[in-house]
Amino acid sequence: MTSVLFTNIGELTTNDSTLGDQSVLGLIHDAALVIEGGRVVWLGERNSAPVADEAVDVGGAAVIPGFVDSHSHLVFAGDRAEEFAARVEGRPYSAGGIRTTVSATRAATDEALSANVARLVNEMTRQGTTTVEIKSGYGLSVADESRSLAIARQFTDETTFLGAHVVAPEFADDAAGYVELVTGPMLEAAAPHARWVDVFCEQGAFDADQARAVLRAGKAAGLQPRVHANQLGPGPGVQVGCEMGAAAADHCTHLSAGDIDALSSAGVVATLLPIVEFSTRSPYPDACALLAAGVTVALASDCNPGSCYSSSMPLCIALAVREMRMTPAEAMWSATAGGAAALRRDDVGHLGVGAKADFVVLAAPSYVHLAYRPGVPLIASVYAQGCVVA
Ligand SMILES: [Zn+2]
Repeated sequence: MTSVLFTNIGELTTNDSTLGDQSVLGLIHDAALVIEGGRVVWLGERNSAPVADEAVDVGGAAVIPGFVDSHSHLVFAGDRAEEFAARVEGRPYSAGGIRTTVSATRAATDEALSANVARLVNEMTRQGTTTVEIKSGYGLSVADESRSLAIARQFTDETTFLGAHVVAPEFADDAAGYVELVTGPMLEAAAPHARWVDVFCEQGAFDADQARAVLRAGKAAGLQPRVHANQLGPGPGVQVGCEMGAAAADHCTHLSAGDIDALSSAGVVATLLPIVEFSTRSPYPDACALLAAGVTVALASDCNPGSCYSSSMPLCIALAVREMRMTPAEAMWSATAGGAAALRRDDVGHLGVGAKADFVVLAAPSYVHLAYRPGVPLIASVYAQGCVVA
């Protein structure tokens, strides 16, 4: 196997607080990194770097772990630009939100759905994302949820069954019947292609008992739970997630003190999705209260064609800092190590010996520039398991 030395790294973010400046980001200045067989085999100060078969001089640039985007909805067809325009212009718009996407997704061929996921994953890669979670949830039938997950699996192992996104249109007057379908035949068809089970626990979607039923059935089928919770208003989603052993509760926009306590004591990651609030002109979650309570915070894109059609983790970081008052270091950590925690992964989201060699060379001297220079293309090159992918 060939070893490659990446040297002349002006600032290396490791996310290992025992390294470098011993901060949460474990920053090493004037650093080097050696990779072999897709993994990190050495990292430290440049002066003490070992000899390798090949060398790449990054010219003093900052290097960070690849972003871990732990929440996205990429399997869909069509877009909702008209609906977006109507919303931001304050015009009434009667088409059916998620249902518009469900109809388009059901009508699309496998090839078209797969091509759309490929396009979006490529867009993410070019913005520094090296691990992505992808949900189903625009099929809402046994066949369409199952094929959505099979398509997602072509791109990532982090696939999530979200048959319980909204009640399928055919069951408009029979939510209980739909939950039976989701927890029965749909789950059975979806489970072979999924690692996670998710539910949108919110007024207008699924209530606490329905959410419990979905997560319980998913667990019995070998999937691990995660939840969409407390996005549009206060509600039981976070508490249900904590009670059911979810890896993460996502959105967390409207939390009570009790919700924050529950997240903290259950060790459930709070995944914040600030591009949603940006895109829908909604109030942001209280990241500082979560951090003060010791909750692990992740940042993710929530890329979807309705409420948030952006795949940009750098934008997510800039919003977390500007709008949610996270420090640049907190936002950097949450977009990498936080996402890894939300996916219960210890091989990504940090750079240390044995970790996957997933990293980004920035066109900047410091990670701080991701928040300091919003909207600027700062991703110079992206490596996944040691191979350049963008
Ligand atoms: Zn979502």
